[in-house]
Amino acid sequence: MQTDLIREARRQAEICNACRYCEGYCSVFPALHRERAFSDGDITQLANLCHNCRGCYYACQYTEPHEFALNLPKALAEVRHDNWKTYAWPNGFAGLFDKSGVAIGAGLVLAFSILFVLAQALRPESGEGFYAHMSHGLMVAIFAPAFLLPLAAIAVALRNYWRAVGGGRVAMGDIWAAFASAGRMNNLAGGHGDGCNFEDEDRFTHARRHFHQATLYGFLLCFASTSSGTVLHYGFGIEAPYGLFSLPKLFGVPGGILLCLGTAGLAWLKTQADRNLGAPKVWGGEMAFVLLLFSVSATGLLLYAATGSAAVSWLLPVHLGTVLTFFLLTPYSKMAHGFFRMAALTKEAEAKRTSALRPVS
Ligand code: SF4
Ligand code: SF4
Repeated sequence: MQTDLIREARRQAEICNACRYCEGYCSVFPALHRERAFSDGDITQLANLCHNCRGCYYACQYTEPHEFALNLPKALAEVRHDNWKTYAWPNGFAGLFDKSGVAIGAGLVLAFSILFVLAQALRPESGEGFYAHMSHGLMVAIFAPAFLLPLAAIAVALRNYWRAVGGGRVAMGDIWAAFASAGRMNNLAGGHGDGCNFEDEDRFTHARRHFHQATLYGFLLCFASTSSGTVLHYGFGIEAPYGLFSLPKLFGVPGGILLCLGTAGLAWLKTQADRNLGAPKVWGGEMAFVLLLFSVSATGLLLYAATGSAAVSWLLPVHLGTVLTFFLLTPYSKMAHGFFRMAALTKEAEAKRTSALRPVS
């Protein structure tokens, strides 16, 4: 972990702790005000609670040219990104993705797409829909480990995080509180309720919150689509292709549309936002991740629209190559932020619960 980033964030947190003007802005400030001094773990936790809404920056009387040079969104963003690299497992690849995310993402999509084109030579004698191009067994053999291994890597990273922030035994109530907070995304309201500042100078809107919600709920619907297809296949012996009024399609089509809209909106906001209020060095890696997620949903929808046509023979490898790249890069790309946020919100729920139980002296 880079000590200079922690030191700078600690300096700013100490000023905020004395000032207290932004008291009700977000989860960061109540957590900050509970401490008298900040350990490295405290700064790590504050950084992962911050959702970079930028509300505190525009409210602050101590930003440059003031000698305090406060820029809390940037200081916390830089610590946060450094955390994700430090706790990622195996360590090292996350830093590479930050530097060359677009090249790595595009290279992997291309390479995997070509491999899936070649894999169509092993197509089964018979099969319907996508399974006429690639056997179900081959897809499961590739995607089951590609899904489970990154999850194992994320679990190791979260364990590292939990130890660093001094987390105790995890309580179900705290996890539930974290899910409720993430579902509402109330930390993206900008403190004053006007939303985040990502578009133009000091203009606040709810665009970022809504694009995040579209992305999150679109992703969850796509996951529900894949899960329901698996249940239909193994539990009821009902194999793809599925009709429009089947569960996989009822979840998948709106999910894909929401995911496309959400990621396109987030990519647009990133081009408008002031990079100096985030972590400018990882801008490329973040954009690569958003574009990758957009490609997953866009190729999925195109593939569905092309069902039964000759275009499936090249759209299917491109979609599978994109999904495989997304799975494998999940622990090292911006996708990891969702898991760390959940851990930080769970820790915050634990801190609130235990401080409420502490006897008043
Ligand atoms: S960001 Fe500025 S105004 Fe807000 S609490 Fe910190 S020092 Fe005070
Ligand atoms: S940028 Fe927003 S979320 Fe982050 S500390 Fe400031 S007010 Fe809180």
